[in-house]
Amino acid sequence: MYDYLVVGAGLFGATLAYELKKKNKKVLVIDKRDHIAGNIYTKNIDGINVHVYGAHIFHTSDKEVWSYIQQFAEFNNYINSPIVRYKNELYNLPFNMNTFTKLWPDVFTPEDARRKIEEEKKNFHIDEPKNLEEQAINLVGPTIYEKLVKGYTAKQWGRPCAELPAFIIKRLPVRFTFDNNYFNDKYQGIPIGGYTKIIEKMLDGIEVKLNTNYLDNKEYFNSIAKHIIYTGPIDEFFGFKYGPLEFRTVEFKTEEYNMKNYQGNAVVNYTEYEIPYTRIIEHKHFEFDTESEKTIISKEYSKAWMPGDEPYYPVNNEKNNCLYNQYKEEASKVSNVTFGGRLGLYKYYDMDDTIIEAFKVLKDLEK
Ligand code: FAD
Repeated sequence: MYDYLVVGAGLFGATLAYELKKKNKKVLVIDKRDHIAGNIYTKNIDGINVHVYGAHIFHTSDKEVWSYIQQFAEFNNYINSPIVRYKNELYNLPFNMNTFTKLWPDVFTPEDARRKIEEEKKNFHIDEPKNLEEQAINLVGPTIYEKLVKGYTAKQWGRPCAELPAFIIKRLPVRFTFDNNYFNDKYQGIPIGGYTKIIEKMLDGIEVKLNTNYLDNKEYFNSIAKHIIYTGPIDEFFGFKYGPLEFRTVEFKTEEYNMKNYQGNAVVNYTEYEIPYTRIIEHKHFEFDTESEKTIISKEYSKAWMPGDEPYYPVNNEKNNCLYNQYKEEASKVSNVTFGGRLGLYKYYDMDDTIIEAFKVLKDLEK
């Protein structure tokens, strides 16, 4: 008999398993996949740590979370500074002085850039933006919109910006310094040796069963543990009785090349609509490796999600939130199961939020 069965060996499940083991609880972790680490899984291929379920950059402003994660890995000082390719032009993200001076040859100072953007906004202002296109032009003017926002956003959502609702984009931050750091957080980095090692360390000394789907054998698993922590999709747990919760998904096409350096940066966004992928990730640059003879890239294609596809980003619109609340109500009646993680709570969590949420659950379990 186990004290806890943790369903899902992702960051949420592993954090809880690690903390519960420290409290001398007997824990079993199962995962339906053939590997641990959930979506932060990195696979070492030819010496390169490939982010199999999409690029993951650890960033947080929470000092406690930052020092917590350091016990499982040493982090490098990677700073996410994506590049944009639009036709034969290259720009820096987020929108900053490097971007502006390249977009407009007569811009040299922050004052020039402010004036230019204000001028563009004023000349093309639309009083009541009816769609995302009009909203974006109001926020940053037509040049930034046309080159850096339009095609990328349309690919992400599978529809032209003029057919998307205005509320999707509330802000498009502009920065009047020469700073290409994508995140505003205090701490940032990539674990040296990959993310899987973090989860390996967390699960060290804990019994783990892979290729094991809890829902295939629910009664048996319920009978072997006093309490269950379920980090799979909440709608699936209840047999989709109210219908499936929607997600957005991404397809990754990964290719290996016999060359040292494919694009010179970990992340290059393609904002031209005619190029079907949204980004290319070159995994070795997360670890500053330019020496190995090979490189591995992943092209990311945004796709409409269909039931059965990998659920990546919850679509927290009114319809889905109502549906989730119905499942949450059902969940509150199942006293021996705690629902957690991004799938169990139907909420997008960055890795730092995931750790914070796991600690909240731990506190509840102790009550
Ligand atoms: P998961 O990692 O999804 O783990 C859930 C596990 O449960 C899975 O392994 C699954 O196989 C298993 N499971 C499900 N159902 C069952 C079942 N019935 N039986 C057994 N096992 C089951 N965060 C950042 O901080 N920085 C980033 O740069 C970043 N980039 C991201 C990019 C993408 C494309 C996505 C989708 C997310 C990104 N995140 C990022 C968020 C990060 O991935 C999450 O915070 C984290 O993975 C959440 O962990 P989890 O354990 O809740 O979920």
